[in-house]
Amino acid sequence: MKLISYKIFKDAVNKSVQFKMEIEPGVYIFSGYWEKKGFEKIISVSTQVGCKTQCKLFCNVNYFSRDLLVEEILEQINIVMQTLNLRNNEDIKISLVKEGEPLDNVNIVKIVKKLDEKKFYAVKISTSLPEGTEQRLLDICDIKGSIEIQLQISLSSDNEVVRNDNVSRKLLSFDDIKLICDVVYNKAIKYNKKYNKIALSFTIYEESIIDFKGFIHKYNLNNKIFLFRIRNATPSNGREYTMLSEEKFNKYRYIIEKYMYTFIDGRSEQLAVDHDLTIGIYKLSELL
Ligand code: SF4
Repeated sequence: MKLISYKIFKDAVNKSVQFKMEIEPGVYIFSGYWEKKGFEKIISVSTQVGCKTQCKLFCNVNYFSRDLLVEEILEQINIVMQTLNLRNNEDIKISLVKEGEPLDNVNIVKIVKKLDEKKFYAVKISTSLPEGTEQRLLDICDIKGSIEIQLQISLSSDNEVVRNDNVSRKLLSFDDIKLICDVVYNKAIKYNKKYNKIALSFTIYEESIIDFKGFIHKYNLNNKIFLFRIRNATPSNGREYTMLSEEKFNKYRYIIEKYMYTFIDGRSEQLAVDHDLTIGIYKLSELL
């Protein structure tokens, strides 16, 4: 990647740093850095220019141009590390969460292998699991290196019609996702991966109704495998959603207190910020 320029945006409150990188004239990608609770160092990178999924709930990406190359992923990481004077790869998790659907990228297995070779301690794959991408996920899980592979699947809703209506492509069914997660979990055990929980992410807004208890029961979700993450929607793409009120949020308190590890509040200026009610992932084992 011949980087033309980059700009940095700092968020003093949330201690995050966002990077806007111009990689071709007029073509921008986004990366970021965030210290979770002051100890987990996370570099987030884009995996594509644009995205085919085009989620309507909280994303303004409504075009797709191309996959990023392995070296373009590494270049984003290098720029963040050099700018912020970060030196030790073993302290850092790489989160494939910015622009793009990571499992769409034809280079994704090579990218994760390279991150393993570079000794980053973990890679987090945030995906909505579009149809046709599942084999790449299974290939990633077969990488036998030491890197932790953390998986976050964006389900958006407990209703498959609503889930598919929120994107511009066909996503895997909940039944298929459950099957894949079982395989992923068993691979994690087989290869003795340290992290073997899968975060299922939902997006809630004032008009939505999500029956979490029914969902957990229907799909027989084992909380040894799954964690839950709830995200408050930010209106985008011309559709009007109302941010979840405090009152309705409190109705979901049972799931937050019993099953959840994080709440992402779209009202924040930052894309991802823990809410007061966050239950840290490290505390979850005490709850189960
Ligand atoms: S998958 Fe990610 S980048 Fe793509 S449209 Fe959805 S939120 Fe945006």
